[in-house]
Order: sequence, then structure tokens, then C-alpha cells
Amino acid sequence: MTCPTCRKGMLRADRDSFKREEPHYLRIQNMDEPFDYESGRFKGFLRCDNQLCREIVVVAGNYYAEYHDEIDRDTDEPITHEMLSYKPLMMSPAPEIIQYPKKLNKDSKDHLLRSFALFWIDHAACANRLRIVTEYLLDQVGIPRDGPKGRSANARLDLFDRIELLKVAKPGHEVAFNALRVVGNVGSHDGVVDFEDLLTCYEAIEDAMSELIEERKAKLAQRLQDINARKGKPKA
Ligand SMILES: [Zn+2]
Repeated sequence: MTCPTCRKGMLRADRDSFKREEPHYLRIQNMDEPFDYESGRFKGFLRCDNQLCREIVVVAGNYYAEYHDEIDRDTDEPITHEMLSYKPLMMSPAPEIIQYPKKLNKDSKDHLLRSFALFWIDHAACANRLRIVTEYLLDQVGIPRDGPKGRSANARLDLFDRIELLKVAKPGHEVAFNALRVVGNVGSHDGVVDFEDLLTCYEAIEDAMSELIEERKAKLAQRLQDINARKGKPKA
């Protein structure tokens, strides 16, 4: 995962910092399992590997461990296999789930960063936050929040209306924006969203930001056109 502070370094788990404990009531429950089983809470640090940054991210949540005893065939000695899994429920500062452009407006960025924190805590709330990002992203590309609607000449436009305007101004993003809208709606109203759908929404908004703000494909097309105009010869 990329460091949320320098956005260059990678976060590495500091194994020595990880501590786990099993609460008494779970120890009693887990003793009834047919194999050696342990579960409880953990906490630890992830550290940025960029020497100029060295950010520290705190992570905490639940852990599950299974132990299976076996006899080593080569040495005839007993060995224990540990199957350990961590389920993080909070990370702070939250790592970036997706990349975003440097030129992203402040409101979109603030809500996007909040979505990264919610990703670990509450998927429905996270999806709702991504829906808010899409509203602010539309601001950045100049789609108005008010305009003619029905009998009104200057009504408040909802996200659906604004996506219709985007379809005219910058076609090709309406399918992605509508997915972000409906998954965000489900997150708000039902309180549950499909995890795979949430990941797809992140992918969609990453692509939309790159295209609408950085105009990566348009800039590449421009450079290719320039090469063709020079018939492949180096720039003078
Ligand atoms: Zn860093």
C-alpha cells in the first residue's frame, strides 16, 4: 500500500510492533473448537519505506489463528503449523486505496481521504462518501448544481441530472458515474453494499479522475499526433 503522506513510499508491516490478545470470554469459547484455535484483537504499526518520510500508520482490528500439530517426516519431531489472519478495522492515517490527481479539488480530496478511512470500518458509509466525491468532481469539471428542470428555470439538480449534463459535455463517463450514484444510494438507504461493487466503484472513480482532470488519453493522443506530423523524425 502506498504511503498516504509522501504518496511515494510503500507501507511495510513492522512485525515486532504487532501485539495480539485474546479476551477471556473468547478463550473460553475457542476452547470448544475441535482444533487449537485463537481469536481476539491486534494492534500494530506500518512504516513508510521512504527514508525522507518514515510515516507511521497505526492499524488495529481482529485476528484469527489456527494451530495444527504434525510430525515432521524427516526428523520425526512434532511441529506446529500456524494459520494466522488479520482483519484490520481501522488504519490511521488511512492508506490510499486508489491514486488521485494532484490537481483534484479540495472538497473531492477531503471526502476521498475520508472514504479511505471508512473503507476499513464501514463499506456502506464508504460508498456513500464516494458518491459525495462524484458531486464535487462534477463541480471541478464545470457541471452546474442548479439549472432548468421541469417547470423551474433554476432548480437544484440532483446527481442523476448532473450526470445527464456530463453525458453531453464530456461523454463516456455516465456509466461509471451512475454506478457510483446507485451504489452510494444503496449504501445510504440499505446500509449494506457488495464489497466487489465497492472495489469496482473505486476503480471507476480513479479512471474518471484520471480522464477528466489529467486528461491522460487526450494528452497521449496529442503527443501521438505530433509524432505522426513529424513523420517520426526527432523534434527540431
Ligand atoms: Zn511516506
